[in-house]
Amino acid sequence: MVEPLAPRTHSLLSDHKVPLGIFIGGAWEETGREFSVVNPSTGSVIASVSDGDASDAVRALDAAVAAQDDWRAMAPRARANLFHAAHRLLESRADAFADIMTLESGKPRAESVGEFALSIGFFQWYAEQIAHIHGTYSSSSNGGFRVMTTKQPVGPALLITPWNFPMLMNARKGGAALAAGCTVVFKSASETPLTAALFVATLEEAGFPAGVVNLIHTSNSASISAPLLADPRLRKVSFTGSTGVGSTLLEQAARNIVNTSMELGGDGPFVVLDDADVDLAVREAVNCKFRNAGQACVAANRIILHRDIAEEFTEKFVAAAGKLEVGDGFDASVVVGPLINARQRDRTGHLVEDFQSAAGATLLLGGKAIDRDGFFFEPTVMSFPDKKHDFCNDEIFAPVAALYTVDSVAEALEFANDTHYGLAAYLFTRDISRAVALSERLDFGMVGVNRGIMAEPAAPFGGVKSSGLGREGGHEGLEDFLETKYIALTVDESSFE
Ligand code: NAD
Repeated sequence: MVEPLAPRTHSLLSDHKVPLGIFIGGAWEETGREFSVVNPSTGSVIASVSDGDASDAVRALDAAVAAQDDWRAMAPRARANLFHAAHRLLESRADAFADIMTLESGKPRAESVGEFALSIGFFQWYAEQIAHIHGTYSSSSNGGFRVMTTKQPVGPALLITPWNFPMLMNARKGGAALAAGCTVVFKSASETPLTAALFVATLEEAGFPAGVVNLIHTSNSASISAPLLADPRLRKVSFTGSTGVGSTLLEQAARNIVNTSMELGGDGPFVVLDDADVDLAVREAVNCKFRNAGQACVAANRIILHRDIAEEFTEKFVAAAGKLEVGDGFDASVVVGPLINARQRDRTGHLVEDFQSAAGATLLLGGKAIDRDGFFFEPTVMSFPDKKHDFCNDEIFAPVAALYTVDSVAEALEFANDTHYGLAAYLFTRDISRAVALSERLDFGMVGVNRGIMAEPAAPFGGVKSSGLGREGGHEGLEDFLETKYIALTVDESSFE
């Protein structure tokens, strides 16, 4: 039950000067309407933020369009200097960001600190790329003219982000878009608008020109995205979230042939072969499954164990999961926080019941919501008798680990690929040939070999099949916000004769 406090009262918000309005054309505005933000660890309202509507969104796009030409034309060194200034300012506010991230998302503070460090790493990495956006120069096939290419920003971009990594998603998308020379409208998740607001306020203070960065909060996301995608001036939408919403946005984007990047859901197989280092696999599986209370698109969704190591792995994994302390993320001993809201907690309870009744799964640990304020669920481990049930491919998105046993490497590969998703897969083996051959045959955008965490600024993050389109991070992430322009140049070879 959410018990409202007087609005805008949490002291951390005033301590860290978090704006509560929307940001358009270089100015913070109140809209006169508000929605509440809740701390998932307590169920209490911590803030009321301005609720933007379609007309606010269109004004944000007006500002982004007006700023686009000057932003594109800014010298690469000047743009990079702004990025470096922003990186330094962000770094100096690490504590404030960690507080706000934990307050509104519930994640353990140590995880907020880690996510923040990774996030500003993206900003730093993109700062270093700005002066290295190059074109090419070559001769046509028949030698009759020259082929020149140059890279240009795709244009004003809408960046829609989810609540599970409230800083990382904004920094990763924003870093790439702004480095490429695009102006942006951020639309962060209604559950976590405060981290996005602090981020945008920091960019403003670092000196990003008015209109280059804009921010809309809304309690009704569709009412914002639909008019923006219908507006031909919007040239890019980059979305991270569920496959269902991603598919709707793709349909809307199709009308104006808007450039799209989609980071969607996952059904990550975590494969442990018979020759694996089991202790390492257990450690990485605990991290990969229970980090952020399992609310990660790259979480281990199906833990697939070769029969020869299944018993040892299961025993050690259940023991390790049983030691995970659950609670308020501000408590330093806590490693598993709450789910984002009551709906997700209740959905997890139903999922665990269905796994048992319909798929015949055995409960090895946990299995219920925790009876206290906030939206907590016990770290849970379940073992499945077979792998053919439809439930096997649901994205669990909760601290519930699903274990399966297979009899051969071929069976592990077949089961791993048996999903319409294709984001992250994990593989544990000591055999380098197996690692390479299987990595090549896993139908996923990313494969972690003997590791359960892969996020890295220089690496291209993204999925195939229903997990999305495009990549974030690495050179590929920058390319997603750039168009290649080809200039054909006639050269009269006789002109100097
Ligand atoms: P969601 O799709 O409901 O919401 C994501 C964002 O889209 C939020 O900002 C939300 O307000 C907005 N949104 C919702 N409906 C919309 C609509 N009709 N039009 C425009 N915007 C809309 O997803 P969620 O439940 O908040 O996040 C969890 C999902 O995100 C999971 O499926 C997870 O796997 C995925 N995810 C993917 C990645 C990745 O990089 N592939 C990373 C994190 C999360």
